[in-house]
Amino acid sequence: MEHTRCLIIGSGPAGYTAGIYTARADLHPLLYEGMQVGGQLTITTEIENFPGYPEGISGPNMMLDLRKQARRFGTECRTGSIISVDLSKRPFICVDDFNNEIEAETIIVATGASANWMGIPSEKRFYGQGVSACATCDGFFYKGLDVCVIGGGDTGCEEAMYLSTLCNKVYLIHRRDQMRASKAMQAKVMNNPKIEIVWSHKIHEIIGNDLDGVTGVDLENLKTDTIEHLDLSGVFVAIGHKPNTDFLKGQLELDEQGYIKVQNPSSATSVPGVFAAGDVCDPHYRQAIVAAGKGCVAGMDVERFLQDNQ
Ligand code: NDP
Repeated sequence: MEHTRCLIIGSGPAGYTAGIYTARADLHPLLYEGMQVGGQLTITTEIENFPGYPEGISGPNMMLDLRKQARRFGTECRTGSIISVDLSKRPFICVDDFNNEIEAETIIVATGASANWMGIPSEKRFYGQGVSACATCDGFFYKGLDVCVIGGGDTGCEEAMYLSTLCNKVYLIHRRDQMRASKAMQAKVMNNPKIEIVWSHKIHEIIGNDLDGVTGVDLENLKTDTIEHLDLSGVFVAIGHKPNTDFLKGQLELDEQGYIKVQNPSSATSVPGVFAAGDVCDPHYRQAIVAAGKGCVAGMDVERFLQDNQ
């Protein structure tokens, strides 16, 4: 059976940064890149808020740079996913999607989270052309324009508040007549003159064309069963995220939403020798730079753990 001192699962900024640190510590990490090599950032367009790129960089190019840097120090990047793990004793036994078994002395889980989508065809069609799941990442491109946010949770409210600092007008579209967000967030949104809450409506269709991207939305009024149109340029979907932890259920302590519980500020999980970094354990910040920082933390935690547990 193949043996590794450090198995990294996931290839976003957290996984590759963990690769850079553990490879430079001479641990010869093995990194499984998963279904979406490079993670969520490979489906974003321009990244302007990652320090070190003064002119901005495309998501795919940034991930190629991170991958190159991880490989330069000896991280072995492998196409494929880990589909099951046995964390009941060390070394841990992990199985990939080709049924190869890997024995790992330590594991860094950096499998990220996936945004939930409404599931209508126009949402996919205009992704990156007016449809986004991250206001902090893409809000800048909608400066002075009208946009909408879908979702009445804390994320929807935060996204709306952030966008209100940049955009001309923000419609917050929610399918019920009561918000799920905390009272404090609701108060902020309701007192913001740039935000208009559109209660009891859901998106029927996103309207646009290849040249201009999104130009508006058709909304379904769930009380009257009628369709209403709004002209706007951006649709921010904030209907929750799902951490990619299905393969860990019953093995590691997860919170009620499935995020891995870590012993902040370290990256230690409920199982000694298993560490986690990035969006898979972070429902709050969800930023590449934070994930990269946490990947560094996990890499250093692994190094120290192996020194103490030879
Ligand atoms: P939530 O699950 O809390 O909210 C999701 C929202 O999207 C709900 O209003 C829900 O409607 C709506 N929704 C879900 N599916 C659909 C759909 N198919 N079509 C239309 N609307 C839909 O997710 P969040 O990401 O907002 O928050 C996740 C967790 O993170 C929460 O615990 C939250 O408190 C926390 N968080 C905390 C923050 C903070 O403290 N600063 C910031 C951000 C998040 P409905 O209400 O009808 O179900």
